[in-house]
Amino acid sequence: MDLRLYDTLTREKRRFQPIDPARVRMYVCGPTVYDFAHIGNARPVIVFDVLYRLLRHLYGADHVIYVRNVTDVDDKINARAAERGVSIRDLTEGTYRDFKTDVAALGCLEPTHEPRATEYVRNPAARIDMIRLIARLIETGHAYAAEGHVLFHVPSMPDYGRLSKRPLDEMIAGARVEVAPYKRDPQDFVLWKPSGANEPGWDSPWGYGRPGWHIECSAMSAALLGEVFDIHGGGIDLVFPHHENEIAQSRCAFRTPVMANFWMHNGFLQVEGEKMSKSLGNFVTIRELLADWPGEAIRLAMLQTQYRQPINWTEAGLREAKRTLDHWYQLTADAPEGLYCADTLDALLDDLNTPKALAALHELRSEAAKGAKGAAAALKTSARLLGLLHHPAHQWTEWRPASLAIDEAKVERLIVARAAARKAKSFAESDRIRDELAAMGVVLKDGKDPNTGEPVTTWEVAR
Ligand code: AMP
Ligand code: ZN
Repeated sequence: MDLRLYDTLTREKRRFQPIDPARVRMYVCGPTVYDFAHIGNARPVIVFDVLYRLLRHLYGADHVIYVRNVTDVDDKINARAAERGVSIRDLTEGTYRDFKTDVAALGCLEPTHEPRATEYVRNPAARIDMIRLIARLIETGHAYAAEGHVLFHVPSMPDYGRLSKRPLDEMIAGARVEVAPYKRDPQDFVLWKPSGANEPGWDSPWGYGRPGWHIECSAMSAALLGEVFDIHGGGIDLVFPHHENEIAQSRCAFRTPVMANFWMHNGFLQVEGEKMSKSLGNFVTIRELLADWPGEAIRLAMLQTQYRQPINWTEAGLREAKRTLDHWYQLTADAPEGLYCADTLDALLDDLNTPKALAALHELRSEAAKGAKGAAAALKTSARLLGLLHHPAHQWTEWRPASLAIDEAKVERLIVARAAARKAKSFAESDRIRDELAAMGVVLKDGKDPNTGEPVTTWEVAR
């Protein structure tokens, strides 16, 4: 039972062997908390949750350490807080809480650690922090201070650029966009920058300032997972410059041949065939989708595509996922725990081939529908490897979109008004109220109280 994973660094699918099977260690770049997460942001969260579940299945739940950081210091955050007139801390904490609620609704387990960048700028209790890491890079000749900034000197690392394999001239051209006078080389990138009095900042050997974007992940992964760990993940857009620069910082500071043994990247998500953007009006937040769809249907729709492929997010895909789950929940409602389906597990072991794993579950569903012994139980148990079928079946059936949520107090008020109209023999009015309720999706049932003989009206939601 070999797990094989595609490694972006070596460009091949390789057998995964943890450095220490008793402490399998994975780091995934998490959200920058300044606004609701969009459906593209949900992809790495779901994909790496599937991997986390699989690793826990293979090595035991207590033997997998999953770190997903929270970027709570960033210029986008400062700008958004100023725009809304709220404090940076209120903005980041509120956004982080929303993120947690959203991804929990998508059926994702909590990582072992969710360190906030601001906690690791200076952290004497940790093995390493950002300020110490930067100091070490200066000491070892890989970084230099200039005009309140500290920069990583890219030519100091002979094999810089192996992860993204971008041609050198392309990297230089990219870096030239922001050539600052204090840079020794156009490719050099910022480790530390000065902060104004109204910007978040920390005292440091290089003056009052704040960290650049990449250093937080090098510091937090080393503090919580060690200098070399098993898996580093994130979206494909992070390969360059973010992960390339994380590798440069960590390998040069710790003098290690690699930072992580496997680099995994999820493909990008497009909406109805187009790049998601605010200006195109197809920008969808997880929160908005959750108003109309159960989180589990969103999760299943996401897993229909293998994680490295681009995904085309469509409403049709969501509808199909919802229908599939309707069937699965119906079939497995009374099923006991069963056996793991070998085909589902094998597919996941092959670089998380979720479409193939789901095809095996569909096969089980057909067998279960024909009454094959153990098939429903196996479906229930195996679906959990993907984080599906976790809810009691009745909870699934009772789910209603928020847009169809019934205002119960209003229903009761209208029922009382209708009873009064009927008593006064204003039948046109009583019919009008009944129609108003019907338009809200409420069906009335008139009857009599068995004890008093008084007329009573009960109601239910029609679907
Ligand atoms: P950010 O908050 O922008 O730093 O992004 C958080 C995570 O979401 C990163 O791993 C990104 O690579 C990933 N991500 C952002 N947009 C998309 C998208 N459209 N499709 C897939 N992943 C994305
Ligand atoms: Zn990162």
